[in-house]
Amino acid sequence: MDCIVNETHFLNARLADSTVADLAVAGGRFSAITPAANAATPPVGAIDLAGQLVLPAFVEGHIHLDTSFYGDAWRPHIPCTNGFDVRERVAFQMRNLKRAAPMEERAKNQLELCVGNGSLAMRSHVMVDAAVGLKHVETILGVREKYRDLIDIQLVAFPQSGILSSPGTAELLDEALKLGCDLIGGLDPASFDRDVKGHLDVVFGLAEKHGAGVDIHLHDRGTLGLFEIEEIVARTTASGMQGKVVVSHAYGLGDVSADALAGAGERIAAAGVAIMTNAPGDHPFPPVAALRKAGVTVFAGSDNIRDSWWPYGDGDMLNRANMIGYRSGFYEDWELEAAYDVVSRAGAKALGLEDYGIAVGAKADFVALKAEHVPEAVVAVPKDRAVYRAGREVARDGRMIR
Ligand SMILES: [Zn+2]
Repeated sequence: MDCIVNETHFLNARLADSTVADLAVAGGRFSAITPAANAATPPVGAIDLAGQLVLPAFVEGHIHLDTSFYGDAWRPHIPCTNGFDVRERVAFQMRNLKRAAPMEERAKNQLELCVGNGSLAMRSHVMVDAAVGLKHVETILGVREKYRDLIDIQLVAFPQSGILSSPGTAELLDEALKLGCDLIGGLDPASFDRDVKGHLDVVFGLAEKHGAGVDIHLHDRGTLGLFEIEEIVARTTASGMQGKVVVSHAYGLGDVSADALAGAGERIAAAGVAIMTNAPGDHPFPPVAALRKAGVTVFAGSDNIRDSWWPYGDGDMLNRANMIGYRSGFYEDWELEAAYDVVSRAGAKALGLEDYGIAVGAKADFVALKAEHVPEAVVAVPKDRAVYRAGREVARDGRMIR
């Protein structure tokens, strides 16, 4: 075999199909994947993975880098006065953020948590509203630049205080996209702005203007939530944005009738709209198996990590796969593999990541962990794992390697 200069060899990698292989990496990509040779004299500098399971790095598909207190002082959760209320939670968040450590520091803490757990691609929503203006966007754009070599980050200009009900926000969102945000966000067009058409006119108008993707927070439940999803689906098809639109949370899909869901699933799949869920707490959440069966791309994210919305979150997408599988009643191997797919390949598809996976030519961003196979990894969530970015080890057992 020809030896390529600067090739790194990884020996005895257990792949998802249970075969054991030797991997070669050159220029940050897999250059060869061959059955384990067990050669008497391995290539110089080869790294023996000793049969550990090798998986493509996880995809953190929905997070908030600007609002977490991870690594900062503990902020006790403040309950809403009369049940979950987005507007009240936003007010609590503003109060907490005034006393928080610098945003750059908190974002860095959260990024390192995610990378340490094996996520090397991420989509973060970043708050834009009349009160904070573009401050959060400017800070997080700087953080993204600093961490460019370590993790791929997409940023969503997120109207946390609504669009129509927060005058000036549409102009700020336009500016945020000019500054470098990749996607335009949205927030409960019906319950928050009380104007579905007006809200979506701004979102899809800005998407078209900037050639940006769309990722809308939708907490509205039941038939109201379903109606909004149908509206987003129709807009996606009408504007030729198939594959570039996401509905995050989509709680409404979790509490409508099976008949309504079946029809909606088909239309969501046909429009190429992806659904993000983190299987949160006591909320109904989108039925992962039924939607996948309908052909919908369902992916996941941590969403809030120790912020004003809840105290949970650990930045571990393998643990998130466990939660999704647990809450979905996934027991069979193929179901556990589906839970893993949600935090890996489906996430890569929803984010439009290129050259993802363990394959020749793909980016050598991977995780090596102690598990026999994917189903075991999903139920055991082994924490001792090594994370490789472009074939270079960047974290081990949750800690960054400097
Ligand atoms: Zn969110």
